[in-house]
Amino acid sequence: MKTQVLIIGAGPVGLMAALLLSNQGISSIIVERRLERMTAPKAHAVNCRTIEICDQAGVSGDLIRSHGTPPEKAGWVRFVSKLASVEFGALTYERQTDETLAITPFPLINISQPRFEQLVASELQKKDNVCILRGAEANRLEETADGVTAHVLLRGVDAPIEIAANYVLAADGAGSRTRDRLGIKMEGPEALQNYVMIHCEGDLGAFIDHRPGVLYFNFHPDAGGAFIIYDDTKSWVFMKSYDPAVESADAFDEERCRREVINAIGSDTVDFSVRNISPWTMSAQIAEHYRSGRVFLIGDAAHRFPPTGGLGLNTGVGDAQNVCWKIAHVLKGQALESLLDTYEVERRPVAVNNSTQSMTNAAKIVEVFSALYGDDPAKLSEHFLKACERPQENEALQAAINAQKPHFDSIQLQLGYRYHSEALKGSAAIEPPADDDISQYTPSYDVGALLPHEWIMVDGEKQSILSRLAHDRFTLICASSSQPPQCEFDDLHIVEGPAGWEERAGVSGTGALLIRPDGHIAARYANAGALRGDTVKNDLNKILGREG
Ligand SMILES: Cc1cc2nc3c(=O)[nH]c(=O)nc-3n(C[C@H](O)[C@H](O)[C@H](O)COP(=O)(O)OP(=O)(O)OC[C@H]3O[C@@H](n4cnc5c(N)ncnc54)[C@H](O)[C@@H]3O)c2cc1C
Repeated sequence: MKTQVLIIGAGPVGLMAALLLSNQGISSIIVERRLERMTAPKAHAVNCRTIEICDQAGVSGDLIRSHGTPPEKAGWVRFVSKLASVEFGALTYERQTDETLAITPFPLINISQPRFEQLVASELQKKDNVCILRGAEANRLEETADGVTAHVLLRGVDAPIEIAANYVLAADGAGSRTRDRLGIKMEGPEALQNYVMIHCEGDLGAFIDHRPGVLYFNFHPDAGGAFIIYDDTKSWVFMKSYDPAVESADAFDEERCRREVINAIGSDTVDFSVRNISPWTMSAQIAEHYRSGRVFLIGDAAHRFPPTGGLGLNTGVGDAQNVCWKIAHVLKGQALESLLDTYEVERRPVAVNNSTQSMTNAAKIVEVFSALYGDDPAKLSEHFLKACERPQENEALQAAINAQKPHFDSIQLQLGYRYHSEALKGSAAIEPPADDDISQYTPSYDVGALLPHEWIMVDGEKQSILSRLAHDRFTLICASSSQPPQCEFDDLHIVEGPAGWEERAGVSGTGALLIRPDGHIAARYANAGALRGDTVKNDLNKILGREG
């Protein structure tokens, strides 16, 4: 078999990559070793940037929202003793309401990972340049002069088949065998904590309808763990930590898991079934390289974060968007191979930042434990029972809960990341923000930043300016009185910015911004003098690696 891009793994990131490539006219084959899609949910938070990318790719943001849990049900994270007992405090969970429409057309939504994958897969079914092979495990990869040949084992077939591709995207998850075969090492701690993820179905409404939420952190000394509520109140996961030095994951059979869950709820009145039990290890690791020749790591294959931050899937979709427009440009002869080197340069720092923040979030929860348990282990129970009496009046406890806010309000990580590479004209090196406040997003029109969203009227209809951007070409947004340059570039999409936009963008009435297919600002033209056809053409040539 032959294809332009072979994608290993049909998780959310592999599926999105196929869709993004398909939209640019690039064919792909996805090989997935499982016969069926996973039904156990993992991710729940699909953030605003991911939805923006999906919407542009044809999976409507409104559709994703309509399949998610509405903010009035999933808008809080709660700190409790057990699910059915004392609540110590609550925080709002990310920005899900209409207030956020000033900075994004699609606020974050809670949707279970299988549902999200289903929506992407449905869109993929409409494409005739994507083929998904299930029960197909990628094995050995051999790089040739102009591509890669993958040896793929099909379930029930003895001899491997060969798939030849120009490029390979390894979206084969945290335990990526492709990464190992390429000899790419992971950097960072491999085992921070061990968990069993117990997926259950059954109605928890009696305990949470009066205090709805998406995450419930249990702090009872004998019932620690966290509930993630997916799909209303009927599908949920209880995450239980365990110590492999004391017991093996095998100890968590269905009977044991039922007991753990009943204890964590604090009531045996819920009629529930255990659907899936899966052990997993919390790591904070980033691949030392994202590229080896014609093979690129994307998603969890490139980074594995603690889930405290809801960033794994979201970062993976960003990886897919970044590498796919670049591969498409190279395959279409519009860019030279060197453009592909900028994938790692741009995306790895984003992963490092997101990993660090996820670790900080995980570590900070310890402060709530300290406030509840005190510092004398011999008096832990006594201290805890006292804290349960009037938690709202316990200043140390409330301060510890409030200190968790950045964990659950990370808008800067979602929209504020910037790139610095050769695929941008004059981007500044990225300094960590001075105040390091991840809950503050300040729109920026600097090179490397994402073009900020704003509402505009198009033919009497309200649209985001982001929907005016081309996803397969560069877009030049010209201020209202600029003269679009005469530039014999048929792959340049030219649009006029709305009235007053130039002031926000910091260019004159005759200036413009050049936007990449992934929505990042590639170059700024302050005025008519700067905005000449040959200048824009030269910049594009440089960005795309074809000097001249
Ligand atoms: C409890 C929990 C909660 C989470 N919550 C969030 C959240 O709210 N938001 C968020 O953004 N992220 C969250 N995450 C992380 C998120 O689930 C992952 O980041 C996401 O699944 C990564 O997607 P992926 O496509 O890269 O990898 P995966 O989903 O792991 O998919 C990889 C696929 O590759 C296949 N595969 C592997 N090897 C081969 C091979 N050799 N050949 C063929 N196929 C192969 C596998 O079968 C699998 O289907 C959470 C994770 C956990 C555990």
